[in-house]
Amino acid sequence: MLPGHFFVPCTLTLAIQSPEPHSAQPERGAACGSLRLKGRAAPGFAMRRHEPLPDASKCSGGKNRGMSAVKYDLTVIGSGPSGQRAAVAASKMKKRVAVVEARSVVGGVCINTGTIPSKTMREAVLHLSGYNYRSIYGMNYRVKEKITMGDLAFRVQAVIKTEVDVTEAQLSRNGIDVVHGIASFLDPNHIRVEGLSGDTTLESDRIIIAVGTRPASSPKVPINGRTIINSDQVLDLPTLPRSLIVVGGGVIGVEYACMFAILGVRVTIIEKRAKLLEFADQEIVEALSYHLRDSRVTLRLGEEVESVEELADGGVVANLESKKRVSGDALLYAVGRQGAIDDLNLAAAGIEADTRGRIPVDEHYRTTVEHIYAAGDVVGFPALASVSMEQGRIAAHRAFDDGEATSNPSFYPYGIYTIPEISFIGKTEEQLTDEDVPYEVGMAYYRETARGQIRGDTTGRLKLIFHRDTRKVLGVHIIGEGASELVHIGQAVMTLDSTVDYFVDTVFNYPTLAECYKVAAFNGLGRLHRYQAD
Ligand SMILES: Cc1cc2nc3c(=O)[nH]c(=O)nc-3n(C[C@H](O)[C@H](O)[C@H](O)COP(=O)(O)OP(=O)(O)OC[C@H]3O[C@@H](n4cnc5c(N)ncnc54)[C@H](O)[C@@H]3O)c2cc1C
Repeated sequence: MLPGHFFVPCTLTLAIQSPEPHSAQPERGAACGSLRLKGRAAPGFAMRRHEPLPDASKCSGGKNRGMSAVKYDLTVIGSGPSGQRAAVAASKMKKRVAVVEARSVVGGVCINTGTIPSKTMREAVLHLSGYNYRSIYGMNYRVKEKITMGDLAFRVQAVIKTEVDVTEAQLSRNGIDVVHGIASFLDPNHIRVEGLSGDTTLESDRIIIAVGTRPASSPKVPINGRTIINSDQVLDLPTLPRSLIVVGGGVIGVEYACMFAILGVRVTIIEKRAKLLEFADQEIVEALSYHLRDSRVTLRLGEEVESVEELADGGVVANLESKKRVSGDALLYAVGRQGAIDDLNLAAAGIEADTRGRIPVDEHYRTTVEHIYAAGDVVGFPALASVSMEQGRIAAHRAFDDGEATSNPSFYPYGIYTIPEISFIGKTEEQLTDEDVPYEVGMAYYRETARGQIRGDTTGRLKLIFHRDTRKVLGVHIIGEGASELVHIGQAVMTLDSTVDYFVDTVFNYPTLAECYKVAAFNGLGRLHRYQAD
């Protein structure tokens, strides 16, 4: 019998009660098949309500204890996007692969608490609130009058379950053994897996650490999982608050701020930097700020939280260093994330992480130990699922000396699912100005296209930046409906090292938002011709 057969996870779904994040201990040596009603996960791993428990009939109980190490060509720690892609890539190279996963389901933060829940919640918010159609049918247009957290969670749980199933099927189809338990290094080639039903040891020629991150915490902010929450706990809010304080003006904080604001919640964002989303093009961020204010979001920029208090009436107050006080029904603490390395015993492998739990790697995703690689959020910026997948794939190829897989980070796109959404690729105007690159800008407003009018998105815009002399496309920045899809047209043109003339010479379907590229190209070239003619 293959070793992984002891640990094959099942897809049976149980409605389990609210999680006990960060406090639950694995029930070590618990009898197989004791279905626990209280959702438990390994320390630091909050479970979602509908996570399946391992299939009692297929787990090994304590039988594996004391057995000699099970050998693999590659062991991947973590089953998020980077771990999955690394495992599948190695399996396609005919390697024997194990994936160790601390949660009872695969998919990582991406499927269970991060990307998929937040993007599905956003979709539910947009649909139920009728937001996208208010400019056509009037500001009072709604699909559902009183939207509850239950309405949002309903759609989220359905998508999570399907995504988990798809991922499990993919791993199983590729002959990858999934071992559920907490991995820690015994030495650079041996990993101990502490599972609910016993421990096992894996011996591996190569190892990829793909453990991702957990929300950062602060002693100033007493997370209670009900009224003071982190970004893994948003769907655990019992009811929709009337007012919400969001601490953190980064991607996660601003995305959730937009969703709650559209639902009519009075949102205040507190951000210690002077700007939101500092790495994005500032003209686009200004446009977003306009929308946020229009949705009655208060921006407290350049302000730092000194302490957070729970009030007797159940409310929350954030005391700022500037002595301002901001009150709300709930507070979302979304100030960064920390590498999930606490359980790994990295010292036994000879690896050292930085103070934020990030593991240093070279351009091949190799750590300081030759046969150990790391990929995904645990290696730091940009901490996106899209990029994590690619890093995992490349790490696996490099681990087995397959130099074929390449990827150019300059052409990685960014999708920020605010409302309206933002997406971009390449350089911002601020970066090009700093680098003294001569550039020109072409702008297209969605309202100038028939599709923009039909969709009722009259505020969206696409900004095309190109080199003044070579006319090569240097950046595309979009805010508006479909931005994260539209950006890929610009990405293709940039990757193929093409010029702004491509958009002029190409026929786009009509009516589409893609026509914005043509409009922006004409606009930018028009400006160029004006001063070149002088
Ligand atoms: C709210 C939110 C919204 C996001 N939205 C987007 C988005 O729209 N687009 C986008 O591209 N990205 C988004 N992201 C980022 C995206 O989720 C991450 O980039 C991605 O999940 C990282 O993948 P990963 O493989 O590095 O790790 P993760 O997905 O974090 O998976 C790591 C896995 O490792 C497991 N693990 C950890 N330690 C151990 C151990 N010792 N033993 C065994 N297993 C272990 C964990 O249980 C986890 O399942 C979002 C993130 C958040 C939090």
